[in-house]
Amino acid sequence: MSGADKPRMIEMFVPSLLALDWMLAFLAAFVCLDLAKRLESKLDREGFGWLLGASLALATGLWSAQVIGIDRLDLPYAIEYRPVPAFGVWLGAGAACALGLAVACRRSAGLDRTLIGALLLAGGIVGIQVSFVEALGLQPGPAWLLPGLGIALIAAAAGCSAALWLYAEVRVRVKQGLLAWQAAAALILGIAIVVSQSLVMGAAGLNGVHVTTAMQDVLSEDAMGVLVKVGSAALLSMLLVMSQLEAHLRASLQRAKGELRKQSFRDPLTELPNRQIFEGTLAQAAHQADTSQGGLALLLVNLDGFKPINESLGHRVGDRVLREIAARLRSLAQAHMVARLGGDEFLLLMPDNPTTEQAADLAARVLGSLSLPCRIEGRETAVTASIGIVMYPEHGAVSTLIAHADAAMRFAKSSGGATYCFFEARMVSGLREQTELLRDLRRALAQGELELFYQPKIHAPTGEITGAEALMRWQHPRLGMISPVVFIPIAERFGLIGSLGNWLIDEVCRQIRVWRDGGLRMRVAINLSVHQLRQPDLVERIARALGEHDVNPGLLTCEITESVAMEDAEGTIRFFGQLAQLGVSISIDDFGTGHSSLAYLRKLPASELKIDRSFVLDLETSEDARKVASAVINLAKSLDLKVVAEGVETEGQNRILREFGCDQLQGYLFAKPMSAKALALWAMDDVGPRSMTFRSSLFKETQPAELA
Ligand code: C2E
Ligand code: CA
Ligand code: CA
Repeated sequence: MSGADKPRMIEMFVPSLLALDWMLAFLAAFVCLDLAKRLESKLDREGFGWLLGASLALATGLWSAQVIGIDRLDLPYAIEYRPVPAFGVWLGAGAACALGLAVACRRSAGLDRTLIGALLLAGGIVGIQVSFVEALGLQPGPAWLLPGLGIALIAAAAGCSAALWLYAEVRVRVKQGLLAWQAAAALILGIAIVVSQSLVMGAAGLNGVHVTTAMQDVLSEDAMGVLVKVGSAALLSMLLVMSQLEAHLRASLQRAKGELRKQSFRDPLTELPNRQIFEGTLAQAAHQADTSQGGLALLLVNLDGFKPINESLGHRVGDRVLREIAARLRSLAQAHMVARLGGDEFLLLMPDNPTTEQAADLAARVLGSLSLPCRIEGRETAVTASIGIVMYPEHGAVSTLIAHADAAMRFAKSSGGATYCFFEARMVSGLREQTELLRDLRRALAQGELELFYQPKIHAPTGEITGAEALMRWQHPRLGMISPVVFIPIAERFGLIGSLGNWLIDEVCRQIRVWRDGGLRMRVAINLSVHQLRQPDLVERIARALGEHDVNPGLLTCEITESVAMEDAEGTIRFFGQLAQLGVSISIDDFGTGHSSLAYLRKLPASELKIDRSFVLDLETSEDARKVASAVINLAKSLDLKVVAEGVETEGQNRILREFGCDQLQGYLFAKPMSAKALALWAMDDVGPRSMTFRSSLFKETQPAELA
């Protein structure tokens, strides 16, 4: 069949083979660059995947452009392809492209690598075009014109360099419209492929050649043509779709991550910004005020009487009240200028240089708006608020604004609430001392100024010592011994309680181990602060400390105050559950001062209640105190909890508590908190504050039954 009358079915569908040729080359180049976009500086497994895809795309394009190119030649005979060499060339093409792309298309590739990669790629392209012609099995073989080949190589190198350089530039610099630039690079690469292919064909000198027909396994030129055109277009489209799909997934993942990040800066209950994000807004507003020589006002709103609402109507109603209040505050201030500081506290920022009158006016409007009743679940509740106002820059540096607003708010509250108060310097005369203490406290941990004292717990029926409570002490180099009542709240307020608590956990475990090595198996209780409970890894930390010092978890008890335990009921139940699983006991401290629900108490895996000292104090003088103490003891018994009375100072209190059936006693009457060493000496030599003995089991191997 002569070339002139060959049926060309494909031509019925495409305008001309020439156009198809170009289109395929461009498409292949585009898909290749699209996939290569994902190559990072380091080629990991995923990177190899993308490299493979990119090379596959380019090789397929090269190869099919070649078949079409041959088809375009008006040879005086039909061409037949031998499958093995033909596919071999395709594989070779893939390998050459992979090499070039691997060098040039990494994210970190500089100009030098781009050029080396481009040369490799050009060499690969021309090499493939040459071997493709060789694989046709023409007789006589092609008579290569070397200058023509040289020109083809130069054209390919120029095109590849330009394309890859452009691509590398836009990939790093261009943020938007990247696809258009990528298309431009692909166009250059496509042109390089088609042009070099024509030049290679020209250099082959294919006049008057014959095709050997003696071979088996041959594909006709037409069959090959259809295969190539349909197959490669399908393959390339598939790769393109895959690449787009992946880009889409990646973008939506990115969006989801962004959303997540945004959420973590927002208070989940009210959807207002939280303190962290608000501090950023505040700093920015203050900076703007500085540059424009203006000022700003900050209002700290603290609700009066919110706790009773929470306690009497439940947390669900409390939450809805907070949401309602957040909405009202939002409607009174500019967008993003209201935040929830935590609990029932909110912050309002007035940027744009407000006057004190304007700030007072806003505070008055806040009070007015909050005092309107809230209808929730058919019930009407009303709250008032205390507001502290600071003006910047008059009332202090940015870093002190919230603290100063807090001081002013406390003033408003102490004058009866439902009012606002501007900051004055006298409100923070104690604050300076606090800041100094805070500074010293940071140092105290590192300098080893903290120490644990241990106060024995006495088994009421026998009078034996069965355990101790660890209480923190700070030996300040200048101020002497500082009470935890002073420094624990500071640590809590300024974010130090985490490290203090971590030290405590480790120190207690270490001490238990030291005593045990000395022959004393002491059970020790530690106090956990509400802020510690919020540490997500607290249980892990306790488990780790127990493990590191090889301490039996049954020797450790965690005391958590009743109000803390009731504050976040669900969270506490979960946390207690995890502790109980570890084998650590749980004690509810200061019992009687908070508001427990019986149903909830039942759910807690606690093993002990500690009657608050305030009830013990009045036992001898107040009938009410006696009623409370006896009720608590009965309640505990009905819940199968042990009862400890703390703060026992007199023989009278001791006697009453024993009569009521209290299990354990703790107080100055028996022993004050003492150093670990003093306690060990007392245990070993039996010389102590009172004639009391340590329970004999404390000196034996711990039996599980005795721990119960
Ligand atoms: P708490 O847990 O109620 O501890 C009992 C407090 O009562 C201790 O005061 C103890 O020394 C004192 N006390 C014991 N017996 C008597 C007595 O007969 N009469 C009187 N008047 N007081 C007695 P301390 O050591 O000053 O601790 C005060 C509070 O500080 C503790 O109250 C606890 O809430 C907190 N605290 C102490 N150490 C730590 C700690 O390591 N971590 C945490 N988060 N809080 C701690
Ligand atoms: Ca305690
Ligand atoms: Ca207590």
